[in-house]
Amino acid sequence: MNYFSLKELFPKEIYNKFSEEELSKKLDPNLISTLNDIKYFFNAIIIINTWSFSQSLINKYGLYNERGYRDQSSLTGAKRSPHKEGKAADFDIWEGSKRLDPSFVRETIVKNLSVFKNIKGIELNTEWIHIDLRDRSNNGKVCLFNASGSILKWV
Ligand SMILES: [Zn+2]
Repeated sequence: MNYFSLKELFPKEIYNKFSEEELSKKLDPNLISTLNDIKYFFNAIIIINTWSFSQSLINKYGLYNERGYRDQSSLTGAKRSPHKEGKAADFDIWEGSKRLDPSFVRETIVKNLSVFKNIKGIELNTEWIHIDLRDRSNNGKVCLFNASGSILKWV
């Protein structure tokens, strides 16, 4: 079962420019399955891009366009971001009208990495959750890093 539409994983401009087949090729094949694993695990709503949502849902969750795949020319985030390789997603988790605390979500993911075998990077100290699948060649360990790119911990 896949809970996610490609609209949630691409900016509007890119979604409208390519076929779904072409779009799928831009993503790491494990990204959507990892997001589905997270959805199952938390049994809650995962909010990635919202540009295709109704106005009332955008009012609730916020307007997001570049939380999944990013174009090479995008100025959002790091220049060599795994988002530009289709290997990363930023999201929030909502239970009903409550957004889960991002630190709690990160800690829960880190404690259960055996469930999320393809996650290789998690950004710390952000108001959203960033996970990525970029292999950093450290015996499969998961890199916890901060926005400046500093590696804080391997787990
Ligand atoms: Zn990110």
